Amino acid sequence: MTKKPVIAIDGFSSTGKSSISKIIARELGIIHMDTGALYRGITVFAIQHYLENNNINIPLLISHLNDISLEFRNIDGNLQLFLNNKNIDAEIRDPKVSDYVSEVAKQPEVRAFLLSMQRQMAENGGIVMDGRDIGTVVLPDADYKFFMTASPDERAMRRYKELLAGGTEADLEEVKANLLMRDKIDSERETSPLKQADDAILIDNTCLNKEETIALILSYIR
Ligand code: C5P
Repeated sequence: MTKKPVIAIDGFSSTGKSSISKIIARELGIIHMDTGALYRGITVFAIQHYLENNNINIPLLISHLNDISLEFRNIDGNLQLFLNNKNIDAEIRDPKVSDYVSEVAKQPEVRAFLLSMQRQMAENGGIVMDGRDIGTVVLPDADYKFFMTASPDERAMRRYKELLAGGTEADLEEVKANLLMRDKIDSERETSPLKQADDAILIDNTCLNKEETIALILSYIR
C-alpha cells in the first residue's frame, strides 16, 4: 500500500485554511488537524487562569503548561477540541481568544509544548495540517506544501461574515485590525515565524471562492 500524503497548508489569518483543509482531507480520505485550534486552546486556559489587568501573565502560564491537556475528539464525524476533558470547540473562536492568541503563540515554550503533539499526528502519513509554520518547522518533509494569502480587505470581510453567521456580534474595522495585528506578530516573532517555505506553492485566493481554491489545491495533488 502506498503511504498516504502529508500536506502542509500555511498562510495568513482568515484565508480559509481550516475550512479548505477539512474538505481536502475529506476528499482524499485522510485526517485534518487545525493547529491554530491548539494555540487557541492554550489561550483559553491562559484567559481562564492568568489574565491580569487585561494582560496574560506569560511566565505563570509557561510554568503551568503541564497542567494543560488538549485532545481532539471525534464528535459526530467532526474533530472537536477538548481542554482538560471539557469541550471548548466553540469557545476557541471567541474574538477575545483571537485578541490574545498571537501573544501566547509567540512564546518559544508554548511552541515547543505543541510541537511533538503535531509531529506525532503526522507520523503515519495521511494528514492535512494547517497553521503558520507547518511547512517550515513542524513538517519540513511534507509531501505537498501550500502557502495561502488574500488581500486584507477580503480576509476581514470573510471573517466578519463568519462571526455574524455564528451569532457573534462583530465590527468590520475591529476584525480587520485584529487580523493585521496577528499577521504582524506571527510574521515578526523570533520562533517559527509565519513565512512561505521555499518549496511551498503560493495560493492567492483573493478572487477565488472556496470551491475554486479547493480545486486549485487538489489539481497539484492529484
Ligand atoms: O489559524 P488560526 O487563525 O485559528 O490561528 C490562531 C493563531 O494561532 C494565529 O494567529 C497564530 O498566532 C497562532 N498559530 C501559530 N502557529 C500555527 C497555527 C496558529 O502560531 N501553526
